[in-house]
Amino acid sequence: MRFAILADIHSNLAAFEAVLADANNRGGFDKIWCLGDMVGYGPDPNECIARLREFEHVCIAGNHDWAAIGKMDTSEFNPVAAIAARWTAEQLTAENKDYLVDLPLILQEDGFTLAHGSPREPIWEYLLSSRAAQENFAYFETSYCLVGHSHVPLIFELIEETAVYLELKETELKLSENRMIINPGGVGQPRDADPRASYAIYDTEVRTVSHYRVEYDIPATQKKMAEFGLPEPLIRRLSFGR
Ligand code: ZN
Repeated sequence: MRFAILADIHSNLAAFEAVLADANNRGGFDKIWCLGDMVGYGPDPNECIARLREFEHVCIAGNHDWAAIGKMDTSEFNPVAAIAARWTAEQLTAENKDYLVDLPLILQEDGFTLAHGSPREPIWEYLLSSRAAQENFAYFETSYCLVGHSHVPLIFELIEETAVYLELKETELKLSENRMIINPGGVGQPRDADPRASYAIYDTEVRTVSHYRVEYDIPATQKKMAEFGLPEPLIRRLSFGR
């Protein structure tokens, strides 16, 4: 089996399509593991959910998915994110709202735990430090955990009880006996200073997680965002991957 691991698509259909095409060129996949934040920020919320649902997949909820369906108050969002969340809520069809309402917070699939932010706090916690990662190893039972939320590709490997940070930069990771927390980076709004869409493929046969970056038509997404009146800082940041 080959699983496409996609996080933080954020209503960016151009980035999503580029990732799907790239994954197909690399031997395809059997199923998508979607790590939440399908919507929010970008211009194509309904189109992204519809596209995901064409594939065999599982998906968990992210903070932006909850904000778009009123499961979470946007007062804790920064102002531009809150504007985008309100816009997204107005666009979503009833069917797609129902889809988001039913998303679980955490899932186990094939030896992996899937959580948007962290297994300890699936909706809110950002796993960017070794210390936070180390604490989170106590909150899942599988060998490996996949997270999104920070939009930064990275690995924390538990080596003799210590969480060690490892870079994930278009590398092929061979799964070892050590437990790991892996973030594939963001599809629709990368934040590691590389504007290309970021994703990974887990191949069960060779037990590797391969990380890829994909160019996509950033101006096409930005043009739609401008037409829909989405906030300027959200449009600009796509150019820089920040
Ligand atoms: Zn996100």
